[in-house]
Amino acid sequence: MERLEKKILLSSPTMHSEEKDFISEAFARNWVAPLGFNCDGFEYEVSEYLGGGFHNFATVSGTAAIHLAVKLAGVKKGDPVLCSDLTFAATVNPITYEGGVQVFVDSEPETWNMSPEALEKAFEKYPQAKVVVLAHLYGTPARMDEIMKVCRDHGAVLIEDAAEAMASDYKGQKCGTFGEYSILSFNGNKIITSSGGGMLITREKEKRTKALFWATQSREPSPWYQHEELGYNYRMSNIVAGIGRGQLRHLEDHRERKERIYRRYQRGLADLPVTMNPYLEDSHPNFWLSCLTVNPEAMCEQVRTATSSTFRSEPGKSCPDEILQKLAEYNIESRPIWKPMHLQPFFRDHDFISTGVGEDVFQRGICLPSDIKMSEYEQDAVIEVIRMCFD
Ligand SMILES: *Cc1c(COP(=O)(O)O)cnc(C)c1O
Repeated sequence: MERLEKKILLSSPTMHSEEKDFISEAFARNWVAPLGFNCDGFEYEVSEYLGGGFHNFATVSGTAAIHLAVKLAGVKKGDPVLCSDLTFAATVNPITYEGGVQVFVDSEPETWNMSPEALEKAFEKYPQAKVVVLAHLYGTPARMDEIMKVCRDHGAVLIEDAAEAMASDYKGQKCGTFGEYSILSFNGNKIITSSGGGMLITREKEKRTKALFWATQSREPSPWYQHEELGYNYRMSNIVAGIGRGQLRHLEDHRERKERIYRRYQRGLADLPVTMNPYLEDSHPNFWLSCLTVNPEAMCEQVRTATSSTFRSEPGKSCPDEILQKLAEYNIESRPIWKPMHLQPFFRDHDFISTGVGEDVFQRGICLPSDIKMSEYEQDAVIEVIRMCFD
């Protein structure tokens, strides 16, 4: 097989034509500046998509929405916050913005998301904890019944990071509607993108009003610029929201194409000693990223330091770093699994409630190209290269 001319990407924006229509309207009406009909429209349409009746608002990023959620949840300096360990740093960084202290909670093997048992243990150790931040990894819904029960039992507020899980559902309920505060992201690599942006979702009108106040510089109602609280500039622009509105019309189509990619990997890799990222029978992931883990008995030796990796290739065996390298040789983009937060030097002093699952998934797992513009022919090339690693 030869190196591919055209790079196969992990997950890149897929644009249609409606995005341009909404932007053109904003230009035509000279309504380019923050706030406006596209923001209002985008918020209303996302609320309707989620089932209606939400008091959501559009932000500059998913991270900004998480920050506002952490503020709304009342996290103060020194408060322990129980949060997902195997996730992207953006899930947990905003806790530090407010002076909260992350306690990292490990994953369970059936979804790779927060383990309800580990969460229960975390509450036993930190009975004063009042806030939980949970992420649905790679679009796979977490064990929500059990997680919600643990949160209720301890009177804790749930912040749901559904950045990767728009259009996923758990027992028929859409991700992004479970938390007291939930967030979505429209960053460039997500299932739909506004070029960059996020959404804060709540069911309470006053909470939206408060978050919107912070997100627009905390200006008090007064004839002059009057400030009684710290403010932020976190509001989405009318142009960006226009792109989001155009994309929203293609969300279901994107989800179907992501699922087709996952199924094709599942079939194409069935005879190799690898396992696709798991999900619960009664949930429907959006299959944002297809991932695999190399089965334990088929792992060749792989040693990772903070910044580099060495591995020793063996017949019949392979490892994520060999697959990553081999795919790159053929001009195919892939990524390691998120490195667990408790292993990050920045969080080295933080407590961690371990199950062993997160580190294991990190060692044995890899994110495969899941770009919905990838042809079947291109995906077969990816499968072929993975196959070579086990020769
Ligand atoms: C992308 C992502 C975010 C952050 O969203 P941005 O819009 O990029 O700020 C947060 N959490 C998770 C799990 C993500 O994947």
